[in-house]
Amino acid sequence: MRSTHTQSAVLSQARGSVSVESIYLGEPGPGEALIRMEACGVCHSDVFVATLEKLPLAPVTLGHEGIGRIEQVGAGVADWSPGDRAGITFLGTTCGACEWCTSGRERFCPQQTNFGYTLHGALTEYAIVPAATLVRVPENLPAALAAPLCCAGWTAFGALREAGVQAGQSVALFGLGGLGHLALQMARLQNLRVAAVDVAEDKLHMARESGAEIAVHGETAGRTLQKEYGGVDAALVLTPSAAAIHQAFRSLKRNGRLVLVGLAVSQYELPLVDTVLKGITVRGSYLGSRQDLAEVFRLAGDGLLRPHVQTHALVETPDVLDRLRRGELMGRAVITW
Ligand SMILES: [Zn+2]
Ligand SMILES: [Zn+2]
Repeated sequence: MRSTHTQSAVLSQARGSVSVESIYLGEPGPGEALIRMEACGVCHSDVFVATLEKLPLAPVTLGHEGIGRIEQVGAGVADWSPGDRAGITFLGTTCGACEWCTSGRERFCPQQTNFGYTLHGALTEYAIVPAATLVRVPENLPAALAAPLCCAGWTAFGALREAGVQAGQSVALFGLGGLGHLALQMARLQNLRVAAVDVAEDKLHMARESGAEIAVHGETAGRTLQKEYGGVDAALVLTPSAAAIHQAFRSLKRNGRLVLVGLAVSQYELPLVDTVLKGITVRGSYLGSRQDLAEVFRLAGDGLLRPHVQTHALVETPDVLDRLRRGELMGRAVITW
């Protein structure tokens, strides 16, 4: 018998602290599902949410890389049954009617809700969520390996697609953390030439082992990639660093694409003359399409993608967040139950 409470990693208030607490959890209402979580990744966006000046929901349970099994469904839920495996991503409910929702770009719906931000997230033993927000997860993937695909994998895949590069072209990946190490594997699967960029030597070492053609230090990456490649076709900035954006811009060849992914509350400046005269495309990339997510799960299910994970207990979440903030984690930290 389930208790009336669940242990959750909770952000107390805007810019507040994260602690593990016992939260009351009732029964799933109409359209909702009760899920027993098996694993949930810890994402840099959890750190980002904790830095915001205002929160739409506080206290809020963090987490948006959740894998679990349905325990119970509320009235009117026909697509899911107890025992089904389900994933929770950052994307919650959407309006279903706007121009973005009706063209497969639900992630840009202005009325979207988000797990671990406007909705309680997946860093919890049990969660009650709108069933329509859940995604199917292949049975043959261990939960801890499936979890990072819900945000890091999905986001990396979407960003690579937005970069619009073809086999044989070059891509520079700035930041080899949770997103970057998966983007590297995906880029290799697409036969792209990969330049890996980070400020941490151990991450550059990992990148070389994972098939990066070149692994260079972030501080001088722009100049190095101009020298070695004559500039790259695309640069993905997967880390929330203004310095990385600057170096990524400098690393591009003419008509190159700069794809911004990492989030921080900050501004960035780019050289206008070079943007214009070199015909540079600058774009943001957020998550990916539903099809992208299905493809990411398929690649992992087929053994072609292998997230590097370290597993932790829920009580370690505050410490894991601190280490993530300091850039000390390799691959993805995943909380397991
Ligand atoms: Zn995330
Ligand atoms: Zn919409």
